[in-house]
Amino acid sequence: MGTPRESRTDQAAEVVDRLEEAYPDSTISLRYSNRLELLIAVILSAQCTDERVNTETEHLFETYDGPEDYANAPQDELAEELNSITYYNNKAKYIRSACQTIVEEHDGEVPDTMDELTDLSGVGRKTANVVLQHGHDVVEGIVVDTHVQRLSRRLGLTEEEYPEPIEQELMELVPEGYWQQFTHLCIDHGRATCTARNPDCDDCVLADICPSEKGDSEIDLASGEPW
Ligand code: SF4
Repeated sequence: MGTPRESRTDQAAEVVDRLEEAYPDSTISLRYSNRLELLIAVILSAQCTDERVNTETEHLFETYDGPEDYANAPQDELAEELNSITYYNNKAKYIRSACQTIVEEHDGEVPDTMDELTDLSGVGRKTANVVLQHGHDVVEGIVVDTHVQRLSRRLGLTEEEYPEPIEQELMELVPEGYWQQFTHLCIDHGRATCTARNPDCDDCVLADICPSEKGDSEIDLASGEPW
């Protein structure tokens, strides 16, 4: 790693400060009213926009009520219900299987540990972190989605490429009290300004502390580094 940890820790704190000021109401954008709905919404949100998921779950959550309903739903019926969502067939399978486990092994309750959550079908560390944070008020790590991944690299907080090592590195840099909020701030900034293909560096609150600030030069989308 080129930049010393001490200065990356300062960088992380400054990023959090500035983004908190820019996005004071930053929070999760998926809609849910209980832990199971949260779990299902997060499973559905992989490779899909939260907006699309919210549109689909409005009817889904009225139709199915509790893990037994999902576990007992015929695969075709549940898949049909989700058919505007990416990978809906697989996601329907994951949801049915996860709910079966919840019924059989967890008395119908969404588990509250990382190990038990990641044992459920379709649940990786990212999904488990979201469910722990927003469903159980347990913050064990940092949710690294595509926005967190991209911004952390552009901002020089990490040179890692994949979510799990990025999470480990961020956990050493971001103050623990901000682990949950860091994700939401990155998502808001990633959507509003630091977009994947056309970051608006001229109008970015982080421009003067960002090593990837593009200034007047053209960005090279083909290089993949760090854009
Ligand atoms: S200066 Fe540009 S690359 Fe850096 S965080 Fe802002 S928008 Fe993203």
